[in-house]
Amino acid sequence: MSALPLPPATRSLGSSGITVSSIAWGMWRLAEGGRSAAEAAALVHAALDAGVNFLDTADIYGFNGTSGFGDAEALLGEVLSAEPALRGQMVLATKGGIMPPLPYDQSPEYLRSAIDASLARLKTDSVDLWQIHRPDILAHPQEVARVLDDAVAAGKIRTIGVSNFTQAQIAALNHFLGHKLVSTQPEISALRIDCFENGELDQAMQLGLTPLAWSPLGGGRIAGGDSARDKAVIAELDRVAAAKGISRSVAAYSWLLAHPAGIIPIIGSQQAERIAEGASALSVQWDRTDWYAVLVAARGERLP
Ligand code: NAP
Repeated sequence: MSALPLPPATRSLGSSGITVSSIAWGMWRLAEGGRSAAEAAALVHAALDAGVNFLDTADIYGFNGTSGFGDAEALLGEVLSAEPALRGQMVLATKGGIMPPLPYDQSPEYLRSAIDASLARLKTDSVDLWQIHRPDILAHPQEVARVLDDAVAAGKIRTIGVSNFTQAQIAALNHFLGHKLVSTQPEISALRIDCFENGELDQAMQLGLTPLAWSPLGGGRIAGGDSARDKAVIAELDRVAAAKGISRSVAAYSWLLAHPAGIIPIIGSQQAERIAEGASALSVQWDRTDWYAVLVAARGERLP
């Protein structure tokens, strides 16, 4: 059994020098169910109290297919305007570039307006990380890069990241950027393992990008998946969790934390106790035998 290193409590966001917690909290589901600003503030406090200072949102969070665009950002904006000191305690990440009903829009005019609109809703002068949510294949990366570099120069965004980009799209955008990318945000979990073997994480290590893992519990499926594959992965996570005296979700987060690319899992729970519990994943150490056992269960076949 070869032990893997414990994850550090904090990491640098790419090469920016901005220090972030090694686990993030996401607000995709924040505006669901008519949550009040006081309830949202309680969740922000729960994250910060647990040492999770890296907060991820997006302009589209809250959109239900017909309305709600901007609602999650606006709710966080209410929290920040009621308690302005919170802003300095967090590293705030948001995303844009999807404007319903158009699938994706990264034209210069739209990107500029999207960044300004996010800042207005969040009631802040600047975000620490601004990410393109999904690639617009009709946007030239040189034009996108110019708009984002200008936004950095104007002090509206401190750093630039992407989400759901292919490796070629990352390379092309990074080529044109003056302020190089600091992060990438693919879906990664014990149920979504593509990037371990398709080169995405290798590229992140090569370029010094911080990988943020969206849906680290498979959107909740790790808590209760029912396909044969889900069950096989859950069985391996449960075996390791029982041996370590931790919960299945903590096993799932810490499995990601053990990867050498420095993956930051984004906790998606909107329950204070679950956010705090998730932060305990930082103290869980894996060994190669257990780590590969989970990977093999997810692959559904042995390694060669
Ligand atoms: P997740 O952690 O995979 O799933 C969270 C869901 O699982 C919540 O509904 C949660 O419910 C549920 N859950 C059930 N049992 C749980 C347990 N024991 N512990 C924790 N959660 C449990 O994450 P996600 O919400 O799908 O995504 C996380 C974040 O990733 C988002 O907030 C967002 O920031 C980001 N994201 C990004 C993209 C992108 O395209 N870039 C896409 C999706 C998500 P409760 O709230 O009731 O605990």
